[in-house]
Amino acid sequence: MRRLRPPPRAGGGARPAGYAQGVATPRPGTRAHTVQIARRLEEAQGPLPFARRHDPVSELVTTLLSHSTTDANQFRAFAALRERYPDWDDVRRAPVAEVEETIRVAGLANQKAPRIQAVLDALADDPRGADLEWLGDLPLPEAMGFLTSLPGVGPKTAGCVMCFCFDAPVVPADTHVHRIALRTGIVPPRSSAARAQERLSRWVPPGAAYATHMRLIAHGRTICTARAPRCAECPLLELCPTGRRLLRGVARRMI
Ligand code: SF4
Repeated sequence: MRRLRPPPRAGGGARPAGYAQGVATPRPGTRAHTVQIARRLEEAQGPLPFARRHDPVSELVTTLLSHSTTDANQFRAFAALRERYPDWDDVRRAPVAEVEETIRVAGLANQKAPRIQAVLDALADDPRGADLEWLGDLPLPEAMGFLTSLPGVGPKTAGCVMCFCFDAPVVPADTHVHRIALRTGIVPPRSSAARAQERLSRWVPPGAAYATHMRLIAHGRTICTARAPRCAECPLLELCPTGRRLLRGVARRMI
């Protein structure tokens, strides 16, 4: 049976405002705790039905473009690529310097351009089709294994393709998701993003991976920000040891 315990109380006194009286909260690092986090985010943000944004190759390419850049520059680089080349085979065959110039706004263009071309080369001769639509028919571990065998494709990028294109039970751990997983104790301190992705993907309720990922991103952008988390108004406070610690620190400074 899973161990449940009530949330610790600041200084052993009364619970901070917003805590449900007499309701046990699950221990961080358990499935029940992750499920509660997914539920609280759903309550806070509302329904979020799955919607495919791109075909799988486009998702793969745009995710490769997203590394170490802003969303805006990722979108600009992807749009420039699509505008200059009618299809992915044209990107594959183009001079690398030209692709590099096209995606320059995304940064690290000298690494990203050859990587994208290497990935497209690897897909071009696949007898199952270069469009990757067949990934949706494979067992998830096999599909993830195929994607991570491609040059420069790690678990997060593979997770994005499977989650965003096939509604697969993967919660890709980008910087926001990783940060929240660490702060809330879904994973132990200093755990990697890959571990956070693995744990969230295993524990988030069936059918909720896509919505949970999107909600965690929104939460990380608006409330659990990197530099100044707004813990006092966070719907996850009761489930978050870091938030409670931060608020206790604030309370002590005010005495
Ligand atoms: S309580 Fe604070 S640290 Fe915890 S998830 Fe919310 S904003 Fe982030």
